[in-house]
Amino acid sequence: MSGSRVSDTRAKAYEVIFFDLDGTLHLSGEPFPGLVDFINETAGVYGTTFVAVTNNTSMPPAQYQKKLIKMGLRHDAFQLCSPLSVLAAASVEDISRNIFALATQDVTAFLTEHGYETSNKRPDAVLATFDVEVDYAKLTAACNHLTAGAKLYSTHVDIRCPTASGFIPDCGALTHLLESVTSTKTDKDFGKPSDQMATYLRQKYLGADKRAVIVGDRLYTDIALGHAMGIDSVLVLSGEARSDDPGLEADSRPTFVHESFLTFLKAAYTPKESAPSVRSYAAV
Ligand SMILES: [Mg+2]
Repeated sequence: MSGSRVSDTRAKAYEVIFFDLDGTLHLSGEPFPGLVDFINETAGVYGTTFVAVTNNTSMPPAQYQKKLIKMGLRHDAFQLCSPLSVLAAASVEDISRNIFALATQDVTAFLTEHGYETSNKRPDAVLATFDVEVDYAKLTAACNHLTAGAKLYSTHVDIRCPTASGFIPDCGALTHLLESVTSTKTDKDFGKPSDQMATYLRQKYLGADKRAVIVGDRLYTDIALGHAMGIDSVLVLSGEARSDDPGLEADSRPTFVHESFLTFLKAAYTPKESAPSVRSYAAV
């Protein structure tokens, strides 16, 4: 398949844009040129709500938000959501709050602040996260709790996380380790593209008739979440997916394919001479 697959039709203007981070907003912490300024301007001029949706649970959402502000995103131009936001929501149902957290100190503190009992010696569940401070003692404790009958929760399913020096183990890898050692199956996860995340985003950001889209570089997380939420999706080719990806021909294909988040935004928010203005288009 050639690059002709890339959509050159004028994209719609949306009221809510959910977007992925690594491979979509930035690559290894370096934002794609021109993108941050365009988001700041679009949020300011059109009132578009931008929501960064990350599966990264190595730090609390507010800490990750600060990283994006350091990259140049204006603090009032976006909001950030991670599986930890879902876990912190009062609306999340049917989960135990008496847990053993396989998590960094900061994330454990975040969970405690949001109503989780994390110091109990007999937890009802083990929660695996992207614990970049994991050690053998914590893995042993997690396995012991699971063997004693605790449920297994996982913040997200990603096996590996891309870095400048290659892939490193992500939450999914730690979860698989716990599953295989203790013959336990994961009870729930809370990241892209889980139903828990889809429900949370719909309830928080989408009222009736809100026009929303999700932009990301992975078919099986970002685009799959778009399908789970029943909204449009844009696959960008600035990260993992390629224009000849077999997924583009499958039922799970995105609504649009663009070279990058910036080319999509420019198509959606820069009026062409022959096209109606974006304001009137958005009001349709
Ligand atoms: Mg990505």
